[in-house]
Amino acid sequence: METIEDVTFAVELIRAGLRPGVIELHTGISARRIRRWWREVHGTSPTPGPLPTGGSVLRSAARRREATDFIARYRTRGGNLRLDARRILETYRDHQQTWEDPQLTITETWALVRDAEIGALMAVECPYCGGTHYLSMTQRGPSRCPLCRHQTQDTAETMDAAES
Ligand SMILES: [Zn+2]
Repeated sequence: METIEDVTFAVELIRAGLRPGVIELHTGISARRIRRWWREVHGTSPTPGPLPTGGSVLRSAARRREATDFIARYRTRGGNLRLDARRILETYRDHQQTWEDPQLTITETWALVRDAEIGALMAVECPYCGGTHYLSMTQRGPSRCPLCRHQTQDTAETMDAAES
């Protein structure tokens, strides 16, 4: 049986737009009940379909810039990249207030941290500006540094450069 804190937290996550299946995972409250509350809060049904992948979240330079900042903030709050729904919510609120036109949804930031925790994201150090940004392990081909906009080499070579 869930506590009042679980229910309150679930509603906060619903308001932020986190997908019901993910809320169920972190609160133990059934996705069916969460979908019902979702409809009360938002007046619409949550988007169905698969959860975002790291590759889909990091599909543009603007998103990679946001993601890099989000991960840095997330790490600052707990010193590690362990997936914690409360920390996601706090970091997401902070992120929403800081970015002028944020593109990442809370479910996408959750997917980022999930991938970072299991090692499915790689940190790429840009040889031009020295900044670090993240790519999904499944992303291939040339990419542009989201910080200085230099075209970097293809992903694998960039990885080697970052490690040497
Ligand atoms: Zn750069």
